[in-house]
Amino acid sequence: MNEILIRCPVTRKQLSTGIALKPDAFARMESTNRSVYCPYCRLSHPWNKRDAFLRR
Ligand SMILES: [Zn+2]
Repeated sequence: MNEILIRCPVTRKQLSTGIALKPDAFARMESTNRSVYCPYCRLSHPWNKRDAFLRR
């Protein structure tokens, strides 16, 4: 399982979405809008599959 990350739009840091998937499951994941609390700027950031990438 690989953790799904997004990049914070404010600090450009990588943060975990709290979701972990295998790469093939990530490829099949629906592109729904979600949001994640960002520990760097203490805001909730909306994200979509196209913003996300897997931790290597
Ligand atoms: Zn942020």
